[in-house]
Amino acid sequence: MVNPLDTALDPARRLLRTVFGYPAFRPDQEEIIRAVLRGRDALVLMPTGGGKSLCYQIPAMLRPGTGLVISPLIALMQDQVSALRQHGVAAAFLNSSLPYEEQQRIMAALRRGELDLLYLAPERLLHEDGGTLALLRRIEISLIAIDEAHCVSQWGHDFRQDYLGLDVLADHFPGTPRLALTATADEATREEIVTRLKLTGAERFISGFDRPNIRYTVRMKNGPGADLLAFLRERQGQAGIVYCLSRRKVETTAERLRQAGFDALPYHAGLSAQARRRCQARFQRSDGVIVVATIAFGMGIDKPDVRFVAHCDLPKSVEAYYQETGRAGRDGEPAEAWMTYGLQDVVRLRRMVDESEAEEDHKRVQRTRLQSLVAWCEITRCRRAALLAYFGEDYPGPCGNCDNCLNPPRTFDGTEEAQKFLSCAVRARQRFGAAHLIDVLRGKETDKVLRHRHQNLSTFGIGADLSARQWHAVARQVVALGFARVDAERHGALVLTPRARPLLRGEQSVELREEVRLARPRPARKERPAAWEIPAEDEPLWQALRACRTALADEAGVPPYVIFHDATLKEFVRTRPQSRGAMLELHGVGQAKFERYGSAFLDVIAGAPRPEEDLQSGQHP
Ligand code: ADP
Ligand code: ZN
Repeated sequence: MVNPLDTALDPARRLLRTVFGYPAFRPDQEEIIRAVLRGRDALVLMPTGGGKSLCYQIPAMLRPGTGLVISPLIALMQDQVSALRQHGVAAAFLNSSLPYEEQQRIMAALRRGELDLLYLAPERLLHEDGGTLALLRRIEISLIAIDEAHCVSQWGHDFRQDYLGLDVLADHFPGTPRLALTATADEATREEIVTRLKLTGAERFISGFDRPNIRYTVRMKNGPGADLLAFLRERQGQAGIVYCLSRRKVETTAERLRQAGFDALPYHAGLSAQARRRCQARFQRSDGVIVVATIAFGMGIDKPDVRFVAHCDLPKSVEAYYQETGRAGRDGEPAEAWMTYGLQDVVRLRRMVDESEAEEDHKRVQRTRLQSLVAWCEITRCRRAALLAYFGEDYPGPCGNCDNCLNPPRTFDGTEEAQKFLSCAVRARQRFGAAHLIDVLRGKETDKVLRHRHQNLSTFGIGADLSARQWHAVARQVVALGFARVDAERHGALVLTPRARPLLRGEQSVELREEVRLARPRPARKERPAAWEIPAEDEPLWQALRACRTALADEAGVPPYVIFHDATLKEFVRTRPQSRGAMLELHGVGQAKFERYGSAFLDVIAGAPRPEEDLQSGQHP
């Protein structure tokens, strides 16, 4: 039965609704699809989770012929193709992991024009005897989508030699629309994509970088690991990534989490390729796994329901932070970016930059980038607005979904504290790190103090009124505000910058976070997890639906989210559909999926006890 309204919608929206089960396009998706349907090339820059895939999947289904999707990662291809097949779309992938007969079968289907979408790795297209390319040239191609297009950039982290050869597609398939898609931000990369892929005539679609469903939180380190455990305990059963700077810390953190009862796995470049693959597969395919990782874990993670990304150490730059946290919440559901940091992190990262082999120019850029991130960590205004401003985007904040918006830090005139701290650094000839300077300020006669005769400095003991923790907060902020920097060559010594002079001369004042002044930090308002909480009375139904999903996923050999996303299960809980029609109305339920799984979930819902309010309202006549 066709809903009469559907015939009035244009074909793209009809597919969106009947195949994918979504009521409306997101901003930009519709325009991109229209451009491609008109035969135009497109450069699509959209944040992770923005919905790039539909931009080529839908036109590929509408235009005659097969759509080619070039993608760098074989594991991801497989997941995308199984997701499409669940939707009833004729999709396949070709790569060397397939048995010969299977490859022959797919080639035959291609020749007969039976496929809407074919996923390929670039090397498959360009090398391997050229047979694939020859075949593709003989059949009708509806469009070519080049995913992760920033892989052509030789300056980027994800450079792939094979991507450079993709410019030949322009010559082999003139007149076939080509799309280059990426989530990587900067202008230079964009231009490189256009030039290298011969996309000069392409329409450009640059979407904003905001990820509204991600909540940003930054906390000061409070002792090894305690904060992380507290954060995770509120998020039992959720999938997430915990980033640490070193392999050793990855191992110890993963171990500690396992002992605390979490399903946590370590991941770093020191593990065997097999162990890494296993870890990645478990994360991708199960429901609540936490991966503790160095930044080696990243690209190739295409799991939409990552509920949090936690940084136990400071990343290297704002760009890195944005990219790493961007792996959370691709499904658009509430997700968290949580970080804890201390001045020690800054010292360590500075040392890594200074000791690297890079050119001096490059090092200077790295230092500036690190400094920008430190400054961002200490800001007291909306974090989202500041993050987007860094990428040149105006955000009419405050966002209401970052720690500073939810729990605004109070500030006070901290000029005196900053002056005391900076002059202590000067008296100690700018050769000592924060911990020692704080001992001096607080009048502690440690061995080191006595050895350097720092008990004789005029600043000795002038800061006894503040705790060490409070002084650490001062130290972080004078660094974040650019009055001093850590000198890695001198083991993290605090060195004044020219900006410190007016402050020391009393010509300038400075606002610091209030935590500095209070004897004890204000008890933070209880942080509530950002994820939508299932009301207690609905918990049994929620768990039953998840169990049903897991069973179906195991049976089909796909990750649970491929059956239905969390958002769709939540809709089931909220609306408790009783019929085919009611279920088809819901977000994420297309016809093919309903035919396959609808009745299983309808049964679960029908068998669930109704919550009390409903029983009460049922008493009314
Ligand atoms: P990207 O490749 O840009 O990171 P995806 O294409 O994987 O993002 O889409 C991210 C998520 O958003 C997927 O779960 C997808 O099903 C969902 N999505 C995409 N477009 C829409 C839409 N118009 N309405 C609802 N959900 C959508
Ligand atoms: Zn905010």
